[in-house]
Amino acid sequence: MNADVLVIGGGLAATWTALAAAQAGGDVVLADKGYCGTSGVTATAGVTHWFVRPEDHERAVTERHAHAGGLADHEQALRVLRTTWERLPALDRYYPFPVRDGVPDRTHNVRGPEYLRAMRGLVHRAGVRILDHHPALELLLRPDGSVGGAAGVRRQAGGTWQVRAGAVVLATGGTAFRSHLLGSRGNTGDGHLMAVEAGARLSGMEFSNYYTLAPAFSTMARSMSYLFGTYTDAGGHEIALPSGPDRNRVLAAALLRGPVFTTLDRAPDWVRRTMPVVQPNFLLPFTRRGLDPYTDRFEVTLLGEGTIRGVGGLTVTAPDCATDVPGLFAAGDVASRVPIVGAISGGGSPNSAWAVSSGTWAGRAAVRHARTAGSAPLRPAGRAGIRPSGRTATVDTAGVIDVVRDELNAYDKNMFRDGPGLRASLSTLNTLWTEVESALTGEGRDAVAARETAALLAMGRWVKEAALRRRETLGMHWRTDGQEAAA
Ligand SMILES: Cc1cc2nc3c(=O)[nH]c(=O)nc-3n(C[C@H](O)[C@H](O)[C@H](O)COP(=O)(O)OP(=O)(O)OC[C@H]3O[C@@H](n4cnc5c(N)ncnc54)[C@H](O)[C@@H]3O)c2cc1C
Repeated sequence: MNADVLVIGGGLAATWTALAAAQAGGDVVLADKGYCGTSGVTATAGVTHWFVRPEDHERAVTERHAHAGGLADHEQALRVLRTTWERLPALDRYYPFPVRDGVPDRTHNVRGPEYLRAMRGLVHRAGVRILDHHPALELLLRPDGSVGGAAGVRRQAGGTWQVRAGAVVLATGGTAFRSHLLGSRGNTGDGHLMAVEAGARLSGMEFSNYYTLAPAFSTMARSMSYLFGTYTDAGGHEIALPSGPDRNRVLAAALLRGPVFTTLDRAPDWVRRTMPVVQPNFLLPFTRRGLDPYTDRFEVTLLGEGTIRGVGGLTVTAPDCATDVPGLFAAGDVASRVPIVGAISGGGSPNSAWAVSSGTWAGRAAVRHARTAGSAPLRPAGRAGIRPSGRTATVDTAGVIDVVRDELNAYDKNMFRDGPGLRASLSTLNTLWTEVESALTGEGRDAVAARETAALLAMGRWVKEAALRRRETLGMHWRTDGQEAAA
């Protein structure tokens, strides 16, 4: 196929990108690994946007950046607030925000499944051609190194696909390292690997270790309701939890000692009333087991979110979300959100606002770029997992992914970090990388598994490398052998 703009991904950022590009007059193709409208981590959750009245923008950014570790960019965060204020009302006709004082309350939590369904509708009506179940495997480059399209596999119809485009926007999400976080199975870092192969840079990769509570018997990760729990160890002794980000560290330390239980008995009435409305799937795993989370004690776990509500990713240049590679743009969680939130998590509202605003900027800029792009021949850029550097051999991809899962999720390796531990992890991952890079490839659906394995491994190495280099504790990057950063 040919298009002005190819958007890779089908989640929050991809749909806002495709909408903006189509509204700017572009001929747009969107290729998703899953089914656009149900894929990505917002579709299974409920999200709140950083949606602030213009007169409060300065204050909101200043307050947020007080905890950013000195890494955030005040002006860039203000731009996010301005664009989100401008763009989010596009959802009004298709999503039933509660009405307050006669106007939709867009600061309210948005139910993920309905949000993404509405976004698919908006994108479809804007004339975007949607390719569901079309995972992208690699970028296509022009002789001058600029990006001119992408190629992948048709998972349901069989065969392969190729789109030649004036510009490509990556919106493939963050990477959750197969932690079993709900909705994140397809978030394997494919976009990061494709971009780096084309010459893009990454930043903030050490800030990639955000964790969320879930019942031990379920993948239903949630944040807000768990603030109201009483936590106990196996002996029934209460675990005293501090407020703020240190809470997870205390919980993780307790989980390393043994099972941890909670009862959400401190949840006020308004939370109990609101949960079924804003996050209808939250109660399902409990209901199926005959449990009442507000009165019964149940075991919990912390699921890794990697770079989803952790914030590292592709470096983009303000103001249009271009990467270092001409013709390649990035939107949403695949991009570094360090300029917006610094060293702390992008959850709790900035991430969604970033998906809306970065998608808007990238979509519009991609259309502008496409108008200047030539029609030179294209060459595929994919390497690891596609074109091995040595002799093809069978690689135990499930085994490789198990190792990545452990190195990037285990609390004592990823949350509590020290030099010897990081070096040991890196050495393990580097050994596997040598094997994967030189021998792994696949056909059809196996091609997707091969590429996902390579991407997960590549992302794991970049995280450990960045974590090793930043010797001080800063934000979510906690070095047990380092000093607290001065910032
Ligand atoms: C439980 C939970 C609660 C959250 N709550 C909030 C909140 O209240 N406020 C907030 O700001 N943020 C919140 N977040 C974060 C927010 O959901 C994300 O920042 C947002 O979903 C990012 O959108 P995205 O499109 O970049 O990535 P995703 O939504 O993860 O979408 C990634 C997309 O890329 C596709 N894809 C991946 N690889 C390929 C490939 N190779 N080819 C084609 N397509 C591909 C996937 O299929 C998917 O469609 C929450 C996250 C979780 C997990």
